[in-house]
Amino acid sequence: MIHFNIPPYTGKEKDYIQQAIENHKICGDGEFTKKCSHWLEEKTGTKKALLTTSCTHATEMAAILLNIGEGDEVIMPAYTFVSTADAFVMRGAKVVFVDIRPDTMNLDENLIEAAITEKTKAIVPVHYAGVACEMDKIMEIAKKYHLAVVEDAAQGMMASYKGKALGTIGDFGCISFHETKNYSMGEGGALFIQDKNYIENAEIIREKGTNRSKFFRGQIDKYTWVNYGSSYLPSDMNAAYLYAQLECADKINIERINLWNLYYKNLKPLQDSKKIELPVVPNGCIHNAHMFYIKTKDIKERTKLIQYLKENQILAVFHYIPLHTAPAGIKFGRFSGEDLYTTRESERLLRLPMYYGLRQNQIEYICSKIMRFYC
Ligand SMILES: *Cc1c(COP(=O)(O)O)cnc(C)c1O
Repeated sequence: MIHFNIPPYTGKEKDYIQQAIENHKICGDGEFTKKCSHWLEEKTGTKKALLTTSCTHATEMAAILLNIGEGDEVIMPAYTFVSTADAFVMRGAKVVFVDIRPDTMNLDENLIEAAITEKTKAIVPVHYAGVACEMDKIMEIAKKYHLAVVEDAAQGMMASYKGKALGTIGDFGCISFHETKNYSMGEGGALFIQDKNYIENAEIIREKGTNRSKFFRGQIDKYTWVNYGSSYLPSDMNAAYLYAQLECADKINIERINLWNLYYKNLKPLQDSKKIELPVVPNGCIHNAHMFYIKTKDIKERTKLIQYLKENQILAVFHYIPLHTAPAGIKFGRFSGEDLYTTRESERLLRLPMYYGLRQNQIEYICSKIMRFYC
């Protein structure tokens, strides 16, 4: 059986977790958490990287920091994971969905302006499959209307837009280190902050509303409860797992890119004969091979192909059911403009196995089966 995903493992994770145990410091903000934060700051150029318990929590922190509340509106695509919306809905905001571009599955930057009202507070672009949204245009709109930009860069680690790491372009970037992502700590994530005025409050919100981070740096002699907050810091054991992966990030990235390119090369004839469509990576975007997907003619063909691959021991899966069609989406959101592509394209998209450690001959096998299906 070829699995759809196997969590990344490089070999050093066990040693590092053991070290964390031996340090007698397994709660948050220990040695490995610090190492991960520094690594992320160095590698991406973000002003501040705070490890969190998930990307969902990083997004919640961004919503709290932006003072999102009852009556506010937040613009995002409906083709995304529930967390993108949940974090803002939990603050009482309404989500306003805009249609996606059929080429990248990212929100269509040309539809954002029409969705803006007096209540709009933020734009939340989601970099699907680690392929960047059109950030120049999005930042220009945000500036014109004084809106915040929170990048859902859950899938975007090691990917960039015009030389800038995903998650470092907007005011906040939310990263995921869930086991399904390119680099993992089981459950976990990071909040990237670009405006240093937010850093102190972010540290407070992450530490149950206390100024404990300042205390640990020796900047104050006792810590106290200064604001509302929650517990958004991960255990140092999880950070130890992540650090082993970050150390190998380039190796993992190159290997994934090679697998992605092999899929592309082998399936190109099917695109040329108009049987399927392959992913599009616009100029200026460097992706991270988070995902390899194909698009079938329609949902019926996709269902048949999933079944056919399963019979051949290959697990391929579809992805998001657009949020505006879900019960909570209907309750908490509205769709601005027409749904030309969100539903249609989501029904055609099929993700193929992709993980660190997947072998080239497995990809050859998967592609040969897809070729056969279309013959
Ligand atoms: C994985 C993912 C999330 C959620 O990440 P968690 O770390 O599991 O909270 C959010 N948005 C997108 C686009 C994702 O792919």
